[in-house]
Amino acid sequence: MTALSPYRVVEHAPVLSFHWEVHGTDDAPLWVGSGSCPLCGCAMTVTIGYVQPPIPKGGFLGRRKTPDSPVWYTSCRCESLHIPRPAHVPAGCGAMLRLARPGAGNGS
Ligand SMILES: [Zn+2]
Ligand SMILES: [Zn+2]
Repeated sequence: MTALSPYRVVEHAPVLSFHWEVHGTDDAPLWVGSGSCPLCGCAMTVTIGYVQPPIPKGGFLGRRKTPDSPVWYTSCRCESLHIPRPAHVPAGCGAMLRLARPGAGNGS
């Protein structure tokens, strides 16, 4: 069997290009990005809504810094079990990723 990489919170600085699809409505778009985590190699999907609820801990995980930010932040959301993963973390290997936002680099 293949050993999974251990859970580890690590910031991955390079900006990744994910494949984005827009769902939702014009007023409330929802972007669904898919790609693979460069740290653990698993496929992952991230959903980012236009309006983002505040998260108790603060920070920008899974959020944009500002609506116009060219880079969106997320954490790895893969479905593999990377251990030792804290109980409050639902998924992923702990990698903190930067994603090029939809349309970035396409001249828009
Ligand atoms: Zn990962
Ligand atoms: Zn993984």
